[in-house]
Amino acid sequence: MARFYLTTAIDYVNSRPHLGTAYEKVTADVIARYRRLCGVSTHFLMGNDEHSQNVYQRALELGLEPRAFCDQMEQVFREVWAKLDVSFDDFIRTTEDRHKLAVTALVQRIADAGDLYEGEYEGWYCVSCEAFKPDKDLVDGECSIHQTRPEWIKEKNHFFRLSKYRDRLLQHYEATPMFLQPDVRRNEMLRLLEGGLEDISVSRTGQSWGIPLPFDPSRVVYVWFDALINYIAAVGYATDDERFRAWWPADLHVVGKDITRFHAVVWPAMLMSAGLPLPKRVFGHGWVNWQGQRMSKSLGTSVDPLDAADRLGPDPLRLYLVKEIAYGHDGDFTWERFEERYNADLANNLGNLVNRVAVMAHKYRGGRLAPVPGAISQLADRAADVVRRYRVAMDEHQLHTGMAAAFDLVDATNEFITRSEPWVLARTPDRRAELDQALFEMAEAVRIAAILLWPAMPASCTEILRRMGQVGPISEIRLDRDTTWAGGERQIVKGSLLWPRI
Ligand SMILES: [Zn+2]
Repeated sequence: MARFYLTTAIDYVNSRPHLGTAYEKVTADVIARYRRLCGVSTHFLMGNDEHSQNVYQRALELGLEPRAFCDQMEQVFREVWAKLDVSFDDFIRTTEDRHKLAVTALVQRIADAGDLYEGEYEGWYCVSCEAFKPDKDLVDGECSIHQTRPEWIKEKNHFFRLSKYRDRLLQHYEATPMFLQPDVRRNEMLRLLEGGLEDISVSRTGQSWGIPLPFDPSRVVYVWFDALINYIAAVGYATDDERFRAWWPADLHVVGKDITRFHAVVWPAMLMSAGLPLPKRVFGHGWVNWQGQRMSKSLGTSVDPLDAADRLGPDPLRLYLVKEIAYGHDGDFTWERFEERYNADLANNLGNLVNRVAVMAHKYRGGRLAPVPGAISQLADRAADVVRRYRVAMDEHQLHTGMAAAFDLVDATNEFITRSEPWVLARTPDRRAELDQALFEMAEAVRIAAILLWPAMPASCTEILRRMGQVGPISEIRLDRDTTWAGGERQIVKGSLLWPRI
């Protein structure tokens, strides 16, 4: 059976997730659900990054042991992901034993390969980024992302010979054009590689919160070097060889554009050093801005995803994030825009369509619909074209294009109702067969659209499918088999309005 191993970045737990964090998880969830719908055995990993100084500091401020604080925050994160219906298969924390064992083993292997050496780091460090900052990355002396002044640090550290892997990385980029998407990210990384790489410091001195270096327990592993290893730790590296061989390499790392360098340069170099296969693909998504500004707790421009989900429902929020923001680019979120799209796409369009079909099915046929033998279907070709375009887009992570394709079928069905005028057919006894066929076609088109939209709106589309006569669990639906135009008789179920207009 085909397999698909998908990961998101793991999150620092010093504060609650904001809508930008949720954006990444929701889009990855849509990809995971799409793959499952295709019948692919999918492993979807998320998790928390706990060995950060920010996390340690926050715990101290609250008077908690760092580990106890991380335990509390795990519940906070899990609650948000549950509310948003994010269906991860595994959730890793970097303080777990399986992760520590993997970090220890991988760091030792990189050391054995001769790729670590002792040196002195002197320079800027942004604690919010948890990153060493060369002067050229600062704007007016401040971190360009956090708009705060980094710390000047001077430490004896262990360095990783990143520079040694520059040529191999360039070769890999050339040989594997899809390794990093979208192209704008790939071009950024190519320019970086062409400019040459410097070795990086991969340990921190004078800190207790972290994983000790196996050959120098007085120092801990730099939090990024530690965090990246979660992707192999979660599938059994150093703890379960059989499982590791079954799932590694990952098919896709979904990450934010600001951490592309760690995932598309540092991480593959670490794997090359350790002699492990590279992930097949890295996707660097854009940011969800708040009224045109970067969403950030410290800048006061963040939206709580629970507030957004409470306002109009988790599914409308998920659809907005996936459909209104071109995946790979930045997009904007405002309450006005969210409500506008809710009314346009859901209340007036899809929700209204589902309601009309159910009402007409019951008014004219007691809810029982079947196609007329030999009748030529008017929507079947349109549906087949939509499914084809949807699959091409979704296979390439063009999630917004996939969703737009599904809505083309919704639009076509509404147009079909206007054109076929079922209420006129119902008044004419000798057009009985035409009415049968028209009602059946609407219900069948809605059924197919609901399957296509299911990865983005799982709860709502499950309900739409139930109303359109779907029997049997959603987990048994398969995209190729169940989105072809079907001919079976079905019982339509009426229900309340899914998305009342606001
Ligand atoms: Zn920063």
